[in-house]
Amino acid sequence: MAKKVLEKIPGKKPRPIEGHKPAAAVLRGVVDMVYGKAWEAKKRGELVGWSSSKFPIELAKAFDLNVVYPENHAATTAAKKDGLRLCQAAEDMGYDNDICGYARISLAFAAGEPTDSRKMPQPDFLLCCNNICNMMTKWYENIARIHNIPLIMVDIPFSNTVDTPEEKVDYLIGQFDHAIKQLEELTGKKFDEKKFEDACARANRTAAAWLKSCNYMSYKPSPLSGFDLFNHMADIVAARCEEEAAIGFELLAQEFEQSIKEGTSTWEYPEEHRILFEGIPCWPGLRPLFEPLKNNGVNVTAVVYAPAFGFRYENIREMAAAYCKAPCSVCIETGVEWRETMAKENGISGALVNYNRSCKPWSGAMPEIERRWKEDLGIPVVHFDGDQADERNFSTEQYNTRVQGLVEIMDERKALRMENGEEVYTNFENTKETDWSKTTIE
Ligand code: SF4
Repeated sequence: MAKKVLEKIPGKKPRPIEGHKPAAAVLRGVVDMVYGKAWEAKKRGELVGWSSSKFPIELAKAFDLNVVYPENHAATTAAKKDGLRLCQAAEDMGYDNDICGYARISLAFAAGEPTDSRKMPQPDFLLCCNNICNMMTKWYENIARIHNIPLIMVDIPFSNTVDTPEEKVDYLIGQFDHAIKQLEELTGKKFDEKKFEDACARANRTAAAWLKSCNYMSYKPSPLSGFDLFNHMADIVAARCEEEAAIGFELLAQEFEQSIKEGTSTWEYPEEHRILFEGIPCWPGLRPLFEPLKNNGVNVTAVVYAPAFGFRYENIREMAAAYCKAPCSVCIETGVEWRETMAKENGISGALVNYNRSCKPWSGAMPEIERRWKEDLGIPVVHFDGDQADERNFSTEQYNTRVQGLVEIMDERKALRMENGEEVYTNFENTKETDWSKTTIE
């Protein structure tokens, strides 16, 4: 039976949990803490590393190493509108402008191009895992050459199958052992099993709280917008193994839980439509991305990018298998399944796709994934040309036109479905509904 769709939400924001700072403020401090600790280590003459976002960082934590994250640094630089300048600096060094914008920003910064975006110490060693994408390998090899420093590489081949074969796990365990030896040589210390286990426990605690926070988007209306999650990407990337991140995300989940009870939301507009937003956001243009959605009552209640960084495991073999899964390293079947499950759980009536020029492995899979959505979910899908870092590849006017087109189709379908007493969203059985009866609409 179709569930009632509530279109008005109270004009109130979630309140912080009594006795605590708002979760967003706590989490802002967490990333600053990670970079602050790296600077302090540098000043003490200790080694500081740069790591790709999904390197098994638990291994480095067993040696108390301080590590910062070029992808996070590049995203912040882009958001602070200094990305284009660094992209162009990398192009002047000879790098093609078709290379990912994160890599160009990072290579320019590594070569000495300054930026005021986020202060990040230069690296003494590198940790790279190509589960994010294969371009990562060349990016880190180039930084290793620029600084003449060691590169510790974990190779995770693309997942051609839905399941992770045991031989692949064996291959990864062998590489973990090799990386541990390299880290022992680098630091002159022995691998500390207890510190490793503690780091794994903290990573799992953070992932659980992060996924719980993401899951609140399944409520109708949602107590948050997917854009809130984009604001916390730095924390889940840079601080997965920090207790402070786990505490911050647990607080965030509690705030959303409280919102459900009190009828509040960070999305302060009528929720006329709920959509899936696909891809990394265009960091230099978050406002232009958000505005037309806000103006048309389109809330983003499903995103692939955010939960992709929440993964849990019980032991070393499960850990190896978990690291095999990232948006650009899984086969189309897995990619479709992730997104369609989320669409069914969260309830959407359309999708908006960023054909991100920087991220070719992601964008390359999208035409087939879009085709499957239309076939399996019966939703309209609209895409736009964008870029996570290089603003030359995004046009506000094109984006506005595409959003308008999507809204028109969703308006028409919604009216028809409501007239027929049908469910508007792809929520099927799992979507929870907020009980607004106890709240006052302001
Ligand atoms: S944005 Fe895409 S191309 Fe760039 S590093 Fe990430 S996965 Fe690779």
